[in-house]
Amino acid sequence: MSNHDRNRQALVDRLVDHEYVSDPAVIEALRSVPRHAFVPEGSRGRAYEDRPLPIGEDQTISAPHMVGLMTDLLDVVAGDTVLEVGTGCGYHAAVVAEIVGGENVYSVEYSESLAETAREQLHELGYAVAVRSGDGSQGWPAHAPYDAAYLTCAPSELPAAIHGQVRTGGRIVAPIGDHRQHLYRYTKTDAGLDRESHGAVRFVPMR
Ligand code: SAH
Repeated sequence: MSNHDRNRQALVDRLVDHEYVSDPAVIEALRSVPRHAFVPEGSRGRAYEDRPLPIGEDQTISAPHMVGLMTDLLDVVAGDTVLEVGTGCGYHAAVVAEIVGGENVYSVEYSESLAETAREQLHELGYAVAVRSGDGSQGWPAHAPYDAAYLTCAPSELPAAIHGQVRTGGRIVAPIGDHRQHLYRYTKTDAGLDRESHGAVRFVPMR
């Protein structure tokens, strides 16, 4: 086992101990995806600390416990289709791809250059995730309806287009708010959206 592998297993053990993740499929996914491959070279030595790291353009890769918690809340199984808004470096998309299959993950990234780097890294590691650059507040209508969607950047309110592209019964996990943000899980019902809060969070704002 390499140092990276050893450090990753120790990190995931801590996330499980602290009850950030409980779904065995999510735990397995966190154990498998090489986070160090997604962060800039200068940060690789810190890839298995539980903290956000800079990925360029003033953006950050979320802390591992946040990726674990959000993926747990998404409640997805193999074969589900998932929309991600905010590809960043592609790490979170890879974690979700481990569970649902990379060909079922559609990710929109505002920055053309981050989208390009993430796409290359994902494909090099064998994740067939589709990455498009553009404004994710419009979702990705071509592949809707999705079983689940999540945002890794915070809008002031949940964009209507994303709500519209998730099937009834589907979940949306998103940080919402300007200065003070909360992480919410929405479940789409015939009547609208049920919403539960999962605490105060800090994400980059949606652009
Ligand atoms: N999941 C990512 C975290 C990315 S940070 C990872 O694992 O690395 C949030 C990302 O959201 C940034 O890359 C930022 O460029 C992107 N973003 C911000 N506003 C956006 C928008 N309107 N549409 C799509 N992406 C957006």
